[in-house]
Amino acid sequence: MQNDFSEALEMYRNNLKKHSLKATPQRMAVHKAMLELGHASADIVVEHIKETGEAPVTTASVYNILSQLADLGIYGRRLSSNNKMFFDVNTARHFHLYDKERHIYRDLMDDELMEIIESKLKKKKFKGLSIESIDIQIVARPTGRSRRTR
Ligand SMILES: [Zn+2]
Repeated sequence: MQNDFSEALEMYRNNLKKHSLKATPQRMAVHKAMLELGHASADIVVEHIKETGEAPVTTASVYNILSQLADLGIYGRRLSSNNKMFFDVNTARHFHLYDKERHIYRDLMDDELMEIIESKLKKKKFKGLSIESIDIQIVARPTGRSRRTR
């Protein structure tokens, strides 16, 4: 686990370098938080960084870092139903399971299902449009048990 973590940080450093960005303490702190959180809004990342005391940050600076990295394709980006921009550290193809009450995203990896959907869509024509990507979100709500534990 620790090894995966340092490997992920090394990949991130290389990625920053490729885009001529410095690996500032803030950028490193943001990515460490994202690796631990998976999906998070700027507020959640700030809270996490403040807990760890990794680097001095503000919500604005964290939001800027997250947006810049999302523009470069290093993070995914999605808007929650309560209108918060969430960033996603996982840029591989996947579905999302979205808890609409607590606004938590979970990754759902299912290559077989993705292939079925892609092959179905390939046969369809959308006048004036071509499919660029597929972004599927399954909306869920907590079951009684998990609701109580919160
Ligand atoms: Zn995700």
